[in-house]
Amino acid sequence: MTCDEVRPLLNAHMDEETGPIQKAALDSHIGTCFDCAAELKQLERVRDSIRGSMPYYKAPPALRRQVQIALRGAEYLDRDQRSSGWRGERWQTGWRVWGALAAGVAFCALGSVPFLLSARNQSQLVAEEFLSAHERALIGQSVDVVSTDQHTVKPWFNGKLSFSPPVTDFAAVGFPLEGGRLDYEGDHQVAALVYRRRLHKIDVFVRPSAGEKSPPANFERNGYREISWSRGNFLFTAVSDLNGMELAGFAKLLQNQ
Ligand SMILES: [Zn+2]
Repeated sequence: MTCDEVRPLLNAHMDEETGPIQKAALDSHIGTCFDCAAELKQLERVRDSIRGSMPYYKAPPALRRQVQIALRGAEYLDRDQRSSGWRGERWQTGWRVWGALAAGVAFCALGSVPFLLSARNQSQLVAEEFLSAHERALIGQSVDVVSTDQHTVKPWFNGKLSFSPPVTDFAAVGFPLEGGRLDYEGDHQVAALVYRRRLHKIDVFVRPSAGEKSPPANFERNGYREISWSRGNFLFTAVSDLNGMELAGFAKLLQNQ
């Protein structure tokens, strides 16, 4: 990664909001770049001074770890249920998490955690990267170029990316284009096209398919859904908290554009 790519991600990195592949890439850059390391230190100083002046309650490391394992366990358990289609509403996910939390603790006791974690393959890590990117965008800047015009959004990516993503507006069928931004999957730059369905944001991540790992066709976590597919020379991943049926319908539109 370059410094320009690392800088916008330092805040998310400090707050541990990046996905595992991206975190590794950032750690490796910061470990060798004096400037970025200094900027991270500065951000940490600001954070610490805010914490020092406000009441702040940190979860004990053991609890934090157990919840992380539980969330991963929930995804693992989800895989078996996914073949029967989407049924996971938030409360179901909640129960799965608590079930997995109990399972995670039991596995800890048995020393079987490495098995649980290694069952998550590379493509699921990629799926998590996109989910992290979507969540980050929801709390930060979701659009770099604000435009409902596909003829404005598409050329905006020229010179910023090594590829030209296909961009289509679907306002006529209830999925207006809101704009686009540059985002990351691991240390790869990707195009993020931003659409809206009523109050739900939809991010569509586009990158060239050559040499890239594709996430599973369907992925779900914390009330967010992801649908991934390849078309032409591109891989697409649509992420949203929209219901499964509408997101699948939107993906169909893109697949047939
Ligand atoms: Zn740097």
